[in-house]
Formats: sequence, structure tokens, C-alpha cells
Amino acid sequence: MVQIDTNKCTGCRACVKICPDGFEVTEKKAVLKNSSAECIDEAVAACPVGAIISDSNLWRQAKPVIPARGGRRKKQGRGGGRRR
Ligand code: SF4
Repeated sequence: MVQIDTNKCTGCRACVKICPDGFEVTEKKAVLKNSSAECIDEAVAACPVGAIISDSNLWRQAKPVIPARGGRRKKQGRGGGRRR
């Protein structure tokens, strides 16, 4: 899967220079010509703003799934409870 995030794309044509079989720029935005071009991964790496989303860099686009903690944990003393 290859997609172009048009909100990020600046139309710099770096992807077209690296991979003319895969991309073209129309109206200052990159357009995918051929998603199975051999040079797609090189264009993904060359895009200065990360606008090309492919299976090879999908993990970079994902938001972190680690839930935030609600503040600091309270320190527990030795034994962890009331002493008699
Ligand atoms: S290299 Fe990235 S920012 Fe530049 S035209 Fe291609 S997709 Fe758009």
C-alpha cells in the first residue's frame, strides 16, 4: 500500500527525481502513478516531510498506543502497610 498525505506534501518533486516511474507532481502535489514501481521505497526515504506513506514506513506514522499514566506513583514504605 502506498499513499500520499496531500496535507504534508509540499510539491518539492524529490520523489519524482528519485522515482519518476512511481510519482508525478500535478498542481503542486505529488500523485502516485505506479504503486508497484521498484523505486517507491527510495522515494519514501527521500521525501523531506514524510508525506509518502507505505508499508515500509507505516510504523512511523502510527500514534503511540502507550496510555499516559495519571501522575506519579505514590511511594510505598518497606512492608507496604501499617506497622504495629
Ligand atoms: S518528495 Fe514528498 S513533499 Fe516532495 S513532492 Fe514528493 S511527496 Fe510531496
